Amino acid sequence: SDLLKGKVAVITGGARGLGVNMTYGLAEAGANIAITYLSSEESATKLVKDIEAKYGVTCRAYPMRVTDAEQVQATIAKINEDFNAIDIFVANAGISIQGNAETFDFADWKNIFDVNVNGVFYGIQSVSKYMLEQGSGSIIAISSISAKIANVPQAQCAYNSSKAAVSMMTKCLASEWATRGVRVNAICPGYMNTDMLGDIFKKSPHLEEAWTNRIPMRRIGDPDELKGAVLFLAGDQSSYVTGTELVVDGGYTA
Ligand code: NAD
Repeated sequence: SDLLKGKVAVITGGARGLGVNMTYGLAEAGANIAITYLSSEESATKLVKDIEAKYGVTCRAYPMRVTDAEQVQATIAKINEDFNAIDIFVANAGISIQGNAETFDFADWKNIFDVNVNGVFYGIQSVSKYMLEQGSGSIIAISSISAKIANVPQAQCAYNSSKAAVSMMTKCLASEWATRGVRVNAICPGYMNTDMLGDIFKKSPHLEEAWTNRIPMRRIGDPDELKGAVLFLAGDQSSYVTGTELVVDGGYTA
C-alpha cells in the first residue's frame, strides 16, 4: 500500500524480535525507515538491504543505546539530517527480567526502568523537537498488556511497573502536544512469538500451555499481527486518535 509513502519512520530496536516485523510493516506501506540497533550490526545491515531491495524505500541502520541520553539525541539529530524529517517514531526497544519481588535484584530493577522507561522518554523527547517544529508527527510507544494486569503467576513486578509508566507517559505527552500536531499512542501487545517469549518458555516450559489456555483465541500471536496496529496509529487514518492504547492480545485482557 501507499499509506505511508514518503514518510520517515524511526524504530528503536528495529533489527530484532517484534521490531523486525514492524519494520517490514512500515516498509510495505512505503515509509523510509531509520532502524536503531543495539549490537546486531550484521543483522541490521542484512535487514536494511532486504528492505531496500524489496520495497524500494530508503532504509538505514544506526547503532544506538537507548539508555545513553546524549547518544539518543545525537542519533536522532543525525537521522533528521539524513532523512530531512521524522514523521513516525516507534519506541520499541525494551527488556524483560522475571523474578520474585522479595528477592528481585536492585540492579535488574534499575536496568528495566532505564531501558523501558528512561530510554523511551529520551527517544520521544529527542524526536519531539523535530516533530513539534514541523507541526506533525505520530509517536508510538510499545507498551504491553503487562501495563494493565499483574498477570499472575508471572513474577514480573519491575517489567509490569515499567510498562504502566510507558502507558501513562503516552497519555501525558499526548495531552501536552495535542494542539501542536503531534500524536502519541501506545500499543499493548499480548503474547507474541518472539525471542523474548522463547526465552521465558525455555526456562519455564509449563507456561506455554498455561498461557495459551488463558487466551480467548487459544493461540499466541504472530508478530506480523502487530503490523496493522502500527500502520493505523502511524498514518492519517488515526488523525483523531491520541493518548490511547491499542491492545493486540487475542482477547487476553478482555
Ligand atoms: P526482543 O528482545 O527480541 O527485542 C528487544 C529489542 O530491544 C532488541 O532489538 C534489542 O536490541 C533492543 N534493546 C534492548 N535493550 C536496549 C538498549 N539498552 N538500547 C537499545 N536497544 C535495546 O523483544 P521483543 O519481544 O521484540 O520486544 C519488543 C518490545 O515489545 C519490547 O518493548 C517488549 O517489552 C514489547 N512486548 C513484547 C511482547 C512479546 O510477547 N514478545 C509482548 C508485549 C510487549
